[in-house]
Amino acid sequence: MLDAIVSAFKNASRIVITTHTRPDGDAIGSQLALRNYLVGKGKEVLMLNQDPSPYNLEWMPGTERIQLYDGSLPQVEFIAKATIAAILDTNVENRLGAPGKQLRASTAQKILIDHHTDPERWFDSMWRRESASSTAELLFELFEAWDLDGITQDVAIPLYVAIMTDTGSFRFSNVTARLHHIIAELVERGQIDTAVLHAEVYDKKSIEGIRLLSKVLSTLELRNNGTIGIVMVTRRMLADTGASVEETDGFVNTVLSIEGVRVAMIFTETERGTKVSFRSKGEDHVHKWAQSFGGGGHRNASGAFIYGSLENAVEKALSSAHKFISLPDDSSGSDLSDEDAAYLDSLMNSQNT
Ligand code: 5GP
Ligand code: MN
Repeated sequence: MLDAIVSAFKNASRIVITTHTRPDGDAIGSQLALRNYLVGKGKEVLMLNQDPSPYNLEWMPGTERIQLYDGSLPQVEFIAKATIAAILDTNVENRLGAPGKQLRASTAQKILIDHHTDPERWFDSMWRRESASSTAELLFELFEAWDLDGITQDVAIPLYVAIMTDTGSFRFSNVTARLHHIIAELVERGQIDTAVLHAEVYDKKSIEGIRLLSKVLSTLELRNNGTIGIVMVTRRMLADTGASVEETDGFVNTVLSIEGVRVAMIFTETERGTKVSFRSKGEDHVHKWAQSFGGGGHRNASGAFIYGSLENAVEKALSSAHKFISLPDDSSGSDLSDEDAAYLDSLMNSQNT
């Protein structure tokens, strides 16, 4: 299968690459790595996304060339003449936005490269594995099957960032010895200064984002004897701090880092409803829970969109928890002492003034 996909890329002249809405490090890193690799092989490539790249990834080589889909003539023409449409880091049309719709309808060969569960059926070929740490790991395998020497610095850097961001900096359970070998290969080939690169991605938080974090953490509630931790992001908090919603990335991991918490959730209020992100540890799997709301993802990191208010979404998600994970009863509703609860209330009230 991989050989057939490598051949298809070798024979293609024009390739469109897209990835999911609200792209993350693996999405943008994989897209840039594939683009830079293919350009190195003399291909004509267009990167087309629904949403802009996060601000902390804008420095990566080629990011400025990513176009947002606007249905303009040059974009439509390129799609019409494309030999391959490469879809990265999601396997469902509704997470691609408008470019996905256009590419699916095109005559290009649709090639999926992805590590999520349950792919839709409209792809012509797939290079996928749920156990892969990242889409970037799968791309490395593709490059390895084609020509390792094509991994120049502008390919190695985005691949490294993609793997780093999708593995929580190389600490999740899908990080294998094999992956460490890949990382070593990337560091060598890209002459990567890993500390600098880590700082580029993680140490550029805005003060607005940190103020938002403080407000979000003040909403922390522990349920079911401290096994479920939830926090909320209201539109009001975003407006008051001036932070952008992308800056909530990673907040949920702080909740998951509490001892005893097995599932962490962050609920983000939007104009149309509530976005919920699930994170879990070990054998507590959350992807089916997210799927029950029309979302999906990985066993330990999933997301969904729940129509309705923030409070509504929290209640909906929590009331179905027992269907997906075995949990102690939520007898008290919250594990906070009366004193802490009163303190939290006062914080919540001060936010509303
Ligand atoms: P996040 O919570 O960071 O938005 O997403 C975590 C993971 O869950 C992502 O890797 C993505 O695969 C998946 N995910 C998030 N939101 C959705 C959604 O609305 N639909 C689907 N199918 N997957 C989602
Ligand atoms: Mn990924």
